[in-house]
Amino acid sequence: MSKILIIEDEKNLARFVELELKHEGDETAVYMNGRKGLDAALNEDWDAILLDLMLPDLNGLEICRRVRQVKNTPIIMMTARDSVIDRVSGLDHGADDYIVKPFAIEELLARLRALLRRVKSMDEGNKAKQTTIKYRDLVIEKENRIVRRGDDIIELTKREYELLLTLMENINVVLARDVLLSKVWGYNSDVETNVVDVYVRYIRNKIDRPGEQSYIQTVRGTGYVMRS
Ligand code: CA
Repeated sequence: MSKILIIEDEKNLARFVELELKHEGDETAVYMNGRKGLDAALNEDWDAILLDLMLPDLNGLEICRRVRQVKNTPIIMMTARDSVIDRVSGLDHGADDYIVKPFAIEELLARLRALLRRVKSMDEGNKAKQTTIKYRDLVIEKENRIVRRGDDIIELTKREYELLLTLMENINVVLARDVLLSKVWGYNSDVETNVVDVYVRYIRNKIDRPGEQSYIQTVRGTGYVMRS
């Protein structure tokens, strides 16, 4: 089930599309005025917007442009004019797809489903990216809390893991001992700052290769950094 906004001033067409979407189980709203449609597009979250080109008060291209300034809501333009210029300018203004009127409802639904699938898999791709952090041949899979160096899984304790994660999430940022302490051990912790040195040593013993430069560099008098 998706939440679809329809901005279309041809009453019969708007009604027809709405009924079809509802029949498929989607939640819908219809606006026949450009300005009101834009307000709805901006003030609520929609899975997709079906947007007419010629509308009272504010045209579809302008709505598209203004939505794109703040949101990535997928937009399908519905245009009566089948000119290349319209298609290009619709896509230039940030529409994801367009359909030329008159269209078969099946075609609109197929395009809408395809667009929603595309957006969903992109979202999932982005999420997957965010949960995997890499530095040289070190990889942290955040979801599984697994640390790998190349093909080897590195066993870390909870604190060691948190400390390495903090450093790898802040590549090239020098993190002072007290900053690391508060991030990893908590602000109210009363452990000494040299505990950070102890844990960095533990981690180095597990991840570094003998004779090679350490993954974690010491910044004398300050703290630690992982530099790219
Ligand atoms: Ca119209």
